Amino acid sequence: MKIGIDIGGSHIGIGVVDNNGEIIIKTEKFLIEKNNIRNILEEFITENVMQFALMYDIESIGIAVPGTIRNNNIDKAVNLNIENYNLATILEKILKIKVKLKNDAKCAALAEYKYGELKEYKNSLFLCIGTGIGGAVIYDGQLLEAEEVPGYEFSHMIIQKDGELCNCGKRGCFETYASLKRFKQKISERFELNTLSGKEIRKFIQENSENQILKKMIKEYIEYLSIGISNIINIFEPEAICLGGSFAEYENIFYNPLKQAILQGNLLFNPRHDIIIKLAKLKNDAGIIGATLI
Ligand SMILES: [Zn+2]
Repeated sequence: MKIGIDIGGSHIGIGVVDNNGEIIIKTEKFLIEKNNIRNILEEFITENVMQFALMYDIESIGIAVPGTIRNNNIDKAVNLNIENYNLATILEKILKIKVKLKNDAKCAALAEYKYGELKEYKNSLFLCIGTGIGGAVIYDGQLLEAEEVPGYEFSHMIIQKDGELCNCGKRGCFETYASLKRFKQKISERFELNTLSGKEIRKFIQENSENQILKKMIKEYIEYLSIGISNIINIFEPEAICLGGSFAEYENIFYNPLKQAILQGNLLFNPRHDIIIKLAKLKNDAGIIGATLI
């Protein structure tokens, strides 16, 4: 048995995963307070891993991190405000179990490739759209990674010159315009909803489907998303694309318009009649399962 841990931009999940990629048991916690994030993570992880280790024989721990990993160290996780954090070493000292770290979108892509929607494709693209936008490319059956740092940071490609400030310090990044968090914030502010709950925002959209301002905001969001995704398609020409993160919960609102915007928007260098876009099958479990595949 292995333990997979998924540290998201706003939650953490820990699960025991068997050799078939099935989660046997799991526990989760929301990360609302981010001031003391390191202590919160270390306490929650050690407490739960110790408990699981009493019940199962644990070989190793894999952790999916929403950021850049360098030498099994968290170089930076901009949405958690973390820099240069040796989480693996700290945990190994306490738990005496091998701990490996990898970028969360890359973990989720591995899980979707081995067990989920990308199983049948040798060349595919995975995007995790939530608090930020994580990305990964599977090429010829392998996860693409650069030598020293993981690379393939699609979310921080600039799609707007002198655009809005991103958490990474640059301006005009793809995720500043196309993350779901950003979409929810804009809708919430414009209509004074006073919430960032996805469930409530979706309910509001459903109940106000004829509101012209809302329609325009959704269209604009899809435009930004389609620009970013088509840029990546033009580089990699994947056979299939899998979209994960909380984006998958907005299927009714975004799926068809996004597909149409990519196909019909004069964005593709090699125009296509169709494009295979899948919604992540493993949903929020992809990070936990993928973390055990690293
Ligand atoms: Zn950025």
